[in-house]
Amino acid sequence: MHKPSLPVVFLAVLCLAGCQGVDSPTVSGISPARQPYHAGIAGWSVQSRPLMYRVYGNGEDVVLLMAGIHGSEAAGVPLLERLGQELMNNPKLLAGRTVVILPQVNPDGVKAGKRRNANGVDLNRNFPADNFDAIKGNGEEPLSQPESRAVLKQIERYTPSRIVTYHQPLSCVDYDGEGAQQIAEAMGEHTDLPVKRLGGRPGSLGSYFGIDRGIPCITFELPKNASKMNAQELWDSYGQATLAAVVYPQPLEVQTTESGK
Ligand SMILES: [Zn+2]
Repeated sequence: MHKPSLPVVFLAVLCLAGCQGVDSPTVSGISPARQPYHAGIAGWSVQSRPLMYRVYGNGEDVVLLMAGIHGSEAAGVPLLERLGQELMNNPKLLAGRTVVILPQVNPDGVKAGKRRNANGVDLNRNFPADNFDAIKGNGEEPLSQPESRAVLKQIERYTPSRIVTYHQPLSCVDYDGEGAQQIAEAMGEHTDLPVKRLGGRPGSLGSYFGIDRGIPCITFELPKNASKMNAQELWDSYGQATLAAVVYPQPLEVQTTESGK
């Protein structure tokens, strides 16, 4: 039997140790009044970086949010980290629902500041949608990349009723799938960005999960200058629209706390 090499074993042990330190509520010192969460690794990138996920709440209604599938559009990454803080500080937001967050789906691309993964594949063209197109850069076949497989696995595991992904720089709330327009409009009430349907791209997450599988998908296209904002500025600009998707179909009423200071 083939044994994993020493560096691989070392990396895995290092990561698991690190994950405990970072993500265990008891280790990180979160007070009992705050809502705990659990964290794990959805999969591994081409360059062996972990695709972390966190799960908040345990209610029946599941919403899944992810960012950084295009590594050069990373403003959603700190925004979703900030969302996690809000969920811990406002347990009411979790009443009857589960929130699954994948803050960084393409960690190699984010690290390199590049749209595609380390194999040069656009992960948001690599899903097995009817309109998948095997041109160069989309992957030779659907799900050829470990990151797109990890996303699929998480979505099938948690079966969300809606999915929100963060991109840049098209400055709009885009949507795919039946029922997605209403969610986009609920979000649009809390942001200046227009609600606009851009249309399903070949092999995209919206094409596959939204159009083919009927899970409403929202593509929150932040503006280019969102990359220059810190987490608090991002939250001030796009946090309420994000929460509107989290609590949908309830109208957003809960005001966030001062936790971000
Ligand atoms: Zn994008």
